[in-house]
Amino acid sequence: MSANIIDGKQVAEKLRERIANAVKKIEQEHKKIPGLAVVLVGNDPASEVYVRNKGIQTKEVGMTSYEYKLPEDTPENELLKKVDELNNDPNVNGILVQFPVPQQISQQKVIETILPAKDVDGLHPINSGYLSSGLEGLVPCTPQGAAILIKEACKDLSGKKAVIIGRSNLVGKPVAQLLLKEHCTVTICHSRSQNLELISSEADILVAAVGIPNLVKKDWVKPGAVVIDVGINRIDVEENGESKTRLVGDVDFDDVKGIAGSITPVPGGVGPMTIACLLLNTLNAFCDQNNFDRPSL
Ligand code: NAD
Repeated sequence: MSANIIDGKQVAEKLRERIANAVKKIEQEHKKIPGLAVVLVGNDPASEVYVRNKGIQTKEVGMTSYEYKLPEDTPENELLKKVDELNNDPNVNGILVQFPVPQQISQQKVIETILPAKDVDGLHPINSGYLSSGLEGLVPCTPQGAAILIKEACKDLSGKKAVIIGRSNLVGKPVAQLLLKEHCTVTICHSRSQNLELISSEADILVAAVGIPNLVKKDWVKPGAVVIDVGINRIDVEENGESKTRLVGDVDFDDVKGIAGSITPVPGGVGPMTIACLLLNTLNAFCDQNNFDRPSL
């Protein structure tokens, strides 16, 4: 039997629709709309595409998008000054600095300069503290998207055994915290873990966030498990004698789809959820800053 393919594009589209409706309602009641500022430093082509898409989708849900493009050689203090300006701008409810930033700038300093209430990437230590304490804050976007897709595939997570491969602050750790909050029994694996294949094969929910193409094979997967592939890897392939590149995940999709119960594809799985969750965070940040209740979406 083949796994149910979790359609992240469709789930993300429905979430954006609900966000757009909530923004419309707030605008009617309070004559205000949320604003998201995105800052890009340099000319990385992939980052330029991400930032453009964020701007388009922000406007599509009825929010205001503020976009700032700074040159590659921007000194750290200039970027921090821009962040501070946005911290103090009442029209800006969420601030996102696109990572990676050029090497003269400390990513951690940027993270810690953004006001926690406007930290829609959810990376400020205050927000990761809220998450690890099980309190309400702003949750990193990709892990939030992964958790929504897991809930789509598995309604009752209580007591389920979840294995997360990867322990980054951006993905692995926040996914683990979110699943702990849902009462899963959580194991986090990483590059030094022993018997990875055995540990993975006991998981009811397996999340791969590593950055190694096609690492997870069918022997790593328990029959019927929910498999969430966060990895995005560009690999070289030969097609009809031509060299091309292709996006693949950390899970060998073709190998695993025959054994998993549900699986996310790459592309089209977790990826599309990231911007939708960024918009959700912006809406929540706006509500918190205005003392409105967060809408339950
Ligand atoms: P990272 O490099 O910060 O972390 C990778 C983690 O994998 C580390 O914790 C490391 O210990 C672990 N690891 C490395 N080799 C391993 C091995 N052989 N066995 C087990 N664990 C191993 O990466 P990240 O930022 O967490 O991203 C992980 C993947 O997710 C990447 O492919 C990235 O492109 C992708 N990603 C996707 C989105 C999205 O969908 N929008 C967002 C962020 C990251």
